[in-house]
Amino acid sequence: MINLLNFNQPQLAAWFAEQGEKPFRAKQLMRWMHRFGVHDFEQMTDIAKVLREKLAGETEIALPNVQLEQVSNDGTRKWLIGTDTANSIETVFIPEDDRGTLCISSQVGCALECTFCSTGRQGFNRNLSVSEIIGQLAIANRSLRQEPGYDMLPADERIISNVVMMGMGEPLANYDNVVTAMQIMLDDNAYGLSRRRVTLSTSGLVPAMDRLKEDCPVALAVSLHAPNDALRDVIVPINKKYPLKDLMAACNRYLEKAPRDFVTFEYVMLDGINDTVEHAQQLIQLVKHVPCKFNLIPFNPFPNSGYGTSQPNHVRVFRDVLMQAGFVVTVRKTRGEDIDAACGQLAGKVLDKTKRSAKHIAIEAV
Ligand code: SAH
Ligand code: SF4
Repeated sequence: MINLLNFNQPQLAAWFAEQGEKPFRAKQLMRWMHRFGVHDFEQMTDIAKVLREKLAGETEIALPNVQLEQVSNDGTRKWLIGTDTANSIETVFIPEDDRGTLCISSQVGCALECTFCSTGRQGFNRNLSVSEIIGQLAIANRSLRQEPGYDMLPADERIISNVVMMGMGEPLANYDNVVTAMQIMLDDNAYGLSRRRVTLSTSGLVPAMDRLKEDCPVALAVSLHAPNDALRDVIVPINKKYPLKDLMAACNRYLEKAPRDFVTFEYVMLDGINDTVEHAQQLIQLVKHVPCKFNLIPFNPFPNSGYGTSQPNHVRVFRDVLMQAGFVVTVRKTRGEDIDAACGQLAGKVLDKTKRSAKHIAIEAV
């Protein structure tokens, strides 16, 4: 059966045209499905009854199922969402005073093997469909709206004001589905989010970055984590394919079309690995021609990661070196640690096809 949540508005209009229906039906349906969260065709009162019956017979509006919802003592929420019988992914909501951010997954596991990332450690199963990606926003919205405190909010007031594509998976490795889902996020008839408030985080897939700036420019975060190729080759292995020189050039090309005039470089602070003053100085040289901000992320440990969290005074010194060179630097506050919802801790349930998880279990057993 066709799941209508897999379509953006132009695709839905094309589908209606094929059915001999008026394309403006797409706009109506987008509003019902996404803006109002109405999934029962019967309730779509401005759509003719015959069409409603046809839709109910031939299509569905099907969200993935929620297996578990957890709330951290700092208000962070995590949903474990089942995508099929073998796999599940995780979505996290982070409330702050001035915004509410949803961290969305793009794949079941990840095919890239960044050594400090729990998702990477688990191996890879498959890409998420559009409905599974946009479904995370729909599920979080629906669930938050039922909460005391939020339940009185007018429908046009947003609880989720920002989306970050920073959950499980490499979003640019699932390019078509991620772009379609982001187009739905930006669509005024759907979620109407500002391009500046949708951020895609990538480990640096250079050709896809070039495509993204044409197809769906949103705010860009790049997972840098190392100031030189020798180190980055080890901790972010995709660097061997797209080394730092190419990555920096791609960032500048992206900025020609981006909704913000800087790239955010994410930098996980790994104790004794990438957190010295010398690394900070190399970093300043590396990015000197790229308008950017830094987001330093304290490493969040997971079992047998083999890495330690940088000492707080090392993080401070590192930050100060960058700030003295004129950069804007933030240190990410760890949120939702008690429910394993912090960066790099998202694990879901991955039926690994790469045999990578087995390899690690074997190593750990030695
Ligand atoms: N694949 C994309 C997006 C998902 S990862 C990317 O790599 O950018 C989102 C962010 O969490 C990345 O910056 C990633 O490097 C970081 N991260 C991964 N593991 C982490 C850990 N154990 N502690 C802290 N941050 C981590
Ligand atoms: Fe994949 Fe990002 Fe984790 Fe690297 S950091 S393994 S790209 S999810």
